[in-house]
Amino acid sequence: YGKQNADIHTGIRNTLTMLQYKIRNGNVQVVENFDTSLPEVNALIGELNQVWTNLLDNALDAMEPNQKGQLTITTGRARDCLRVTISDNGPGIPEDIKSRIFDPFFTTKEIGKGTGLGLDMVMRIIKQHKGAVKLQSKPGQTDFIVEIPINA
Ligand code: ADP
Ligand code: MG
Repeated sequence: YGKQNADIHTGIRNTLTMLQYKIRNGNVQVVENFDTSLPEVNALIGELNQVWTNLLDNALDAMEPNQKGQLTITTGRARDCLRVTISDNGPGIPEDIKSRIFDPFFTTKEIGKGTGLGLDMVMRIIKQHKGAVKLQSKPGQTDFIVEIPINA
């Protein structure tokens, strides 16, 4: 029923290719910290690619073109899960909105620039795979950590 075995790095790299205009336009340096010894994941690959798209897109939106933006993607293994951490050096997420960013239609972006549905979709897809999404953010750094069971 739709699940496939795949190397997660392929989907992440394809997503970066789709976003390359925005990466260049924002003057963003991309660091790929990939653990190439990771096993394949058994998952809904199209849905996972939507997760990378939504998280990377948010990270790019957070960084100003003149700030030496850095987007770091780190992959690794945590027990029976694959872990993907997407980090940016944008302003960080203010404490008072951290609990709301996963709510559908919550956005701080201008009208027309955000629907507020990206993180809601990320959460739904990862829960469907019995995984977890964690947020760590302080001024100058935001990390979204996605954990997906290898046999999701
Ligand atoms: P949208 O991108 O359409 O606003 P999302 O659900 O993707 O909707 O994100 C909701 C909100 O979470 C964003 O408007 C923004 O305020 C905040 N956010 C998400 N990712 C980041 C990030 N990397 N840095 C700072 N704020 C973020
Ligand atoms: Mg978004």
